[in-house]
Amino acid sequence: MGDPGGRGGVSEDVLVVGGGVLGLTTAVVLAEAGRRVRVVTREPAARTTSAAAGALWEPYRAHPADRVAGWARRTLDTLTALAATPDETGVRMVAGLKAARSASFRLPSWVAGLPAELRPSLISEGLPAGYRAGYRARLPLLDMPAYLGHLERRLAAAGGVLERRALASLAEAAREAPAIVNCAGLGARELVPDPLLRPVRGQLVVVAQPTPRVDEWFAESPDEAVRDPAGGTELLYVLPQPEIVVLGGTAHEDRGDTDPDPELAARIVERAAAFDPRLGAARVLDHRVGLRPYRPAIRLEREALPGGAVCVHNYGHGGAGVTLSWACASDAAALLTG
Ligand SMILES: Cc1cc2nc3c(=O)[nH]c(=O)nc-3n(C[C@H](O)[C@H](O)[C@H](O)COP(=O)(O)OP(=O)(O)OC[C@H]3O[C@@H](n4cnc5c(N)ncnc54)[C@H](O)[C@@H]3O)c2cc1C
Repeated sequence: MGDPGGRGGVSEDVLVVGGGVLGLTTAVVLAEAGRRVRVVTREPAARTTSAAAGALWEPYRAHPADRVAGWARRTLDTLTALAATPDETGVRMVAGLKAARSASFRLPSWVAGLPAELRPSLISEGLPAGYRAGYRARLPLLDMPAYLGHLERRLAAAGGVLERRALASLAEAAREAPAIVNCAGLGARELVPDPLLRPVRGQLVVVAQPTPRVDEWFAESPDEAVRDPAGGTELLYVLPQPEIVVLGGTAHEDRGDTDPDPELAARIVERAAAFDPRLGAARVLDHRVGLRPYRPAIRLEREALPGGAVCVHNYGHGGAGVTLSWACASDAAALLTG
């Protein structure tokens, strides 16, 4: 390729800000398409919000609904393909149940966009005690630490480079490369800056797989979320991995502390134990806390920065960054080229 930016040999360079699921996926898409990619990340992957995610494919707390449904649908295809090699990717197709205590529960609107063979049906029988409606589905469930490792290896194999440092502004990034993709998650609040971004704190408890094992995921409908004393919401979900079970969960808007809250953790375990006594007896191995980068609308657009650099923003994915990752990465790459 030539040097259209006239920047002495760096015209093919793309600098991706962020090494969470959006940054790494976007970098993989670009590097595998032949671009020379550098990812700059303030935190190692293990300390990003992405590493804390549960992580079930499901559009949740992300907007606008119509774009989210399309991105989720496209990402489902890629994650389903990655589930063919679960030990390598950390992605598995796992059967499970979404359930509501209220009989008025309806299938979420994104269900209509799924191909017929994957589209779940509303059920009202065969549900656990206390639940009156729901759906069964086989969906991608990701072991995020393993999955982020997979993305990092893919990036390295395609020639991409990962650098661990903080950037103070997009202008600083623009001095380093003519093309930038901003996948800074909640960090975009200061980097851009973008006052529309808000943290929605989530906390999970990781327990050892009990005997007999839990093999199916379970998640309550968001309508069942209960208000907690601190003004957030709490909702039961149970997400099994080969060796562990991830128990959820919480959502506290505008709460930015990241140390595990022992009272929240106790209530998560209590709720899970009431649902399935095996989980109450399981050994607690870890606590995870992450700050979902919530924005009223995901920002995926191209901007010309002062000085001539191009920046594609790809942040604000709220509670669904994993679910939307491949489609948003591919659209971001297209915007960069276009
Ligand atoms: C408890 C919990 C459960 C969740 N469950 C699910 C789920 O089941 N399914 C699902 O799809 N989603 C889920 N999510 C949401 C999902 O985790 C997020 O949407 C996703 O991780 C956002 O990814 P990201 O790459 O945008 O941000 P992050 O993972 O936060 O990554 C941002 C990156 O930007 C870097 N960065 C920021 N600022 C700078 C700077 N100035 N300079 C350099 N680097 C910078 C950071 O170091 C980091 O590498 C969950 C979230 C939580 C907290």
